[in-house]
Amino acid sequence: MIPAAFDYARPATLEEALGLLTKHGEDAKVLAGGHSLIPAMKLRLSQPKVVVDIGRINELRSIEKRDGKIAIGALTTHYEIESSDLLGLTCPLLPEVAGKIGDVQVRNKGTIGGSCVHADPAGDWPAAMLALDAEFEIAGPGGSRTVAAKDFFIDMLTSTIKPDEILKLIYVPVTTKTAAYVKFAQKASGFAIAGVATVIDKARKNVAIGVTGVAAKAYRAAGAESSLRGSELSAATIATAAQKAADGVDPLSDIHASAEFRAHLACVVAKRALELAASRG
Ligand SMILES: Cc1cc2nc3c(=O)[nH]c(=O)nc-3n(C[C@H](O)[C@H](O)[C@H](O)COP(=O)(O)OP(=O)(O)OC[C@H]3O[C@@H](n4cnc5c(N)ncnc54)[C@H](O)[C@@H]3O)c2cc1C
Repeated sequence: MIPAAFDYARPATLEEALGLLTKHGEDAKVLAGGHSLIPAMKLRLSQPKVVVDIGRINELRSIEKRDGKIAIGALTTHYEIESSDLLGLTCPLLPEVAGKIGDVQVRNKGTIGGSCVHADPAGDWPAAMLALDAEFEIAGPGGSRTVAAKDFFIDMLTSTIKPDEILKLIYVPVTTKTAAYVKFAQKASGFAIAGVATVIDKARKNVAIGVTGVAAKAYRAAGAESSLRGSELSAATIATAAQKAADGVDPLSDIHASAEFRAHLACVVAKRALELAASRG
């Protein structure tokens, strides 16, 4: 449980951090909250020669309204999101998700950026990012690029971030209260075995459903969404739609749940999330 030897750098600015990543390439790893990277280093699954600690780069730690959206700095902790009055009013799904992550220590150190970049198949944020159609602003040596949530999560533990890039900001839309996050969690860690984030736009009769924990990467439950598109939300339409929450995906199987049980949980949790969100309207 002791990591391999590494050099440690603590840049004060984003430019400095990007310079270090450009210099060291694949030998370097960004450190944010450390709640995924440090365990991986202790298990020697990750053996960076240089750890670039971005924890003191204050411009990455913010929650503010910008051009009609909410911009969240990558270093914002789960607890800062959970306790944000601004998000409580403008995007209540996010504090709800944050409050269900791990325990107090994890929420105080872990960051939304680190969690999204890590792309753990059981992580909570990807479900919400997909349901909200969030956008990710990524800084690199040649400037910034913006990526939609649907293109950000590539595969198990793989996001679109390259070794010389740093996730800077996440943009989410202002939403109403008709949203919810429900998960069936692993008892010990809190990670999702099945987690469903849903955002209901009653005016447009549109429903977005993000699912995590079930497959190698989080996904939008397209079959369930189209089943509800344009229709009134009722107990019957919700129940029918929720049955499609795992359609077209290849569910994971591990010590926590078989593939069959995970697919079943996806449907049960989707039904609860849809009912809860609908009841908030
Ligand atoms: C006991 C325990 C329980 C947990 N329970 C849950 C849970 O219930 N739900 C859940 O979702 N998560 C859970 N987690 C994970 C937690 O949410 C972590 O915060 C998250 O996985 C990683 O965030 P971090 O800030 O710690 O990132 P780090 O561990 O510092 O980094 C993770 C990865 O992202 C990269 N990275 C980090 N920030 C950036 C950036 N801005 N730009 C580019 N690359 C970056 C790092 O290089 C590394 O590869 C748990 C963790 C622990 C230890």
